[in-house]
Amino acid sequence: AKKSGKGCFVFWQRSFLKDSTPERMRIESELRDAIDGNQLLMHYQPKIDAETGQVTGLEALVRWNHPRHGLIYPDSFISIAEESNIILELDRWVINAVAYQQKIWKEMGLPLMTVSVNISASHITRMELVTIFEELFQRYPFLPHCIDVELTETAIMANPDRATEVLNCLLALGVKASVDDFGSGYTSLGYLKKLNANTLKIDRSFIDGITADDYDRDVARAIIALATSMSMDVVAEGVETMEQWDLLRSFGCQYLQGYYFSRPKSAAEIAEIYLGADPLKFDRNLPTT
Ligand code: C2E
Ligand code: MG
Ligand code: MG
Ligand code: MG
Repeated sequence: AKKSGKGCFVFWQRSFLKDSTPERMRIESELRDAIDGNQLLMHYQPKIDAETGQVTGLEALVRWNHPRHGLIYPDSFISIAEESNIILELDRWVINAVAYQQKIWKEMGLPLMTVSVNISASHITRMELVTIFEELFQRYPFLPHCIDVELTETAIMANPDRATEVLNCLLALGVKASVDDFGSGYTSLGYLKKLNANTLKIDRSFIDGITADDYDRDVARAIIALATSMSMDVVAEGVETMEQWDLLRSFGCQYLQGYYFSRPKSAAEIAEIYLGADPLKFDRNLPTT
């Protein structure tokens, strides 16, 4: 079962689902209702400049406010959505929600930051993803320059030629692209070069062990060197301590994300704390709460 303590209990066990078609169908139908009935919401987690401590971007993360079970995190429902076509609708909902949020922040006069949107594995080989963004950018002409798409390394490598093709079309629209959870899959470096993504995000599993485990530290350092040599930006995800911050900074990692700086927060909280007139800046000499 999944790690607990995230505010939801594991009520969908995968083994249970495999055997029980009616149960799965109930969840799928609840998920459809969730998309139509506005039970989904986005939280945003800041990305920090490792040198200055300034917030430089946000990652959008979906949550499901279930009428009976409360707030449910994506690890509990993305894979179910992936196994049916619901994921296509879910991704579309997320992309539109982020665009709408950017519009609201813009209308409030807040500085626009690049928002990263996670794209599901099922979508990154489909040209219809390009159409979704094209239609969106007609409605919101300011948007292309403040959107980044995050594609996981594993999803890209499942069908690298097709993913490269779709990604090139997205890049042509003016968005940026990141390879998410990098280091956890098996990337051919030849493809990485061809992919034209702007950013590598080091998988959290390596950051976890970076101060205690030589292997994790070497992998993190190697990914940073690789990104630098390919002129890509690099983000470390899952930074939870100042020691990790210091070490990553000394390795030349430009951007950091993690609970040490901030958990994902609602759009209202983000506007208040990070997009205000005097946005919060993290200082390495001050304790962070
Ligand atoms: P991800 O894209 O790699 O997102 C990072 C996950 O790590 C998030 O979990 C985030 O809350 C968590 N995290 C961030 N900092 C820390 C830290 O310091 N320590 C720890 N332990 N965790 C940290 P979340 O929001 O539960 O999302 C899980 C995964 O679900 C995401 O991994 C992404 O693959 C997927 N996902 C999230 N939102 C969406 C979405 O809107 N669409 C799609 N298709 N997938 C999504
Ligand atoms: Mg991500
Ligand atoms: Mg990630
Ligand atoms: Mg992940």
